[in-house]
Amino acid sequence: MEDVAQTSAPALEWETPLFQQARTQLDQALVQARVPQAVVERLRNPERSVVLSLPVRMDDGTIRSFPAYRVQHSSVLGPTKGGIRYDPEVSLGECAALAMWMTWKCALLRLPYGGAKGGVRCDPRALSPGEVARLTRRFTSDLAPFIGPELDIPAPDMATNEQTMAWMMDTYSAAKGYAVPGIVTGKPISVGGSVFRHEATGAGVVMVIERACARLGWDLTKLRCVVQGFGNVGGIAATELHEKGATVIAVSDMYGGVHDPNGLDIPTLHEYAVAHGSLEGFPGSTAVANAELLELPCDVLVLAAREDQVTEANAGSLACKLVAEGANGPTSNAADRILAERGIPVLPDVLTNAGGVTVSYFEWVQDRSRLFWDRDMIRTRLADKLSDAFDRVWELSSREVSTLRQAALVAGILEVSAALEARGIYP
Ligand code: NAD
Repeated sequence: MEDVAQTSAPALEWETPLFQQARTQLDQALVQARVPQAVVERLRNPERSVVLSLPVRMDDGTIRSFPAYRVQHSSVLGPTKGGIRYDPEVSLGECAALAMWMTWKCALLRLPYGGAKGGVRCDPRALSPGEVARLTRRFTSDLAPFIGPELDIPAPDMATNEQTMAWMMDTYSAAKGYAVPGIVTGKPISVGGSVFRHEATGAGVVMVIERACARLGWDLTKLRCVVQGFGNVGGIAATELHEKGATVIAVSDMYGGVHDPNGLDIPTLHEYAVAHGSLEGFPGSTAVANAELLELPCDVLVLAAREDQVTEANAGSLACKLVAEGANGPTSNAADRILAERGIPVLPDVLTNAGGVTVSYFEWVQDRSRLFWDRDMIRTRLADKLSDAFDRVWELSSREVSTLRQAALVAGILEVSAALEARGIYP
């Protein structure tokens, strides 16, 4: 019989460029983290991937199928946790990459969670509110065997919000026969949500920037900032920067941006965006295309839109002194190297946008104890958690002469690795 050459395993369904980016980061961090082979093997792939086709009755009576995913990367530290997004680019690989990043983020923040991510491939702007409600309820119902307050706890992400979470909570609770607030976080306060959860990610981004300013000897009130993305994360980050006295000179959404070198009045811009449905034409501003916005001279560039925005193609043209990643995966690995060579530090996603999952954790704890905290307590505890993680990352990065991203990943991976080693590989 002819010898069959040993071939490497065929690429798995989730092995898309974004997942490869996450895995390359893991591999690079592992060189520094030095963890046992069994740990490496376990963490390189997600534990569980759920692929669904959701039948949804459209307003015109027809039925359309929507691909939907939920990927649970690691349950070593506890139930898995991560957002649900509605976007035309949602794929298994995207969810797998985002789930892996959630694992490192939760571990870095020392939250008792592993990482997950999910979403539905759809264009949410082309769906009516009724269609979004039916899509959400069907998704929750089909996902019910794989989620739960002890198993996997979804939260909002791109194009999902408090209302989406309320529908998820209601659908899951209806099947159980009693209210289960701990099934999702980012809910309305009326159904067990937490005060300050809505603001937590954007406010957390600014807390991390403040911490970085203290280390760099910068005065936040003198900073000129550009914010890409004007949704939950970018909109709140811009507001917080403005309230703390920084000058926000440009912001954008998916349709384009507005620029005023003298500083935009962010509260008025929010009102304008709601009234006009877009940022375009904001009085006193000039229009700026998204690609151009990233290259505006400024002190801090906040990336709060989506992944893959700063790449090999434009990293050399960025004219900021610091990048803050409010979005997940907005900087490619090649861009990371270019920015490091140029001496532009990147405050990495797993640290910088961790305010969201941290207050989600507080929400889950409150739901389970049925005891609710006030805004001051949540803000203080969030600032403590982010400062503690920031300081560990900064010190590790200085000690090991690595980027802040590498340090953040190493710190997260070491937390997971210690738990995995103690638990062992079963059987
Ligand atoms: P969102 O849907 O509320 O807002 C996204 C914003 O980005 C919108 O203003 C949209 O118009 C804009 N946008 C999309 N594509 C763009 C592009 N190519 N150029 C410029 N702007 C663009 O979503 P969000 O919840 O703010 O999430 C944004 C990012 O932050 C995502 O990467 C998400 O995974 C990450 N994140 C969100 C949370 C959270 O709590 N919501 C937590 C952690 C990380």
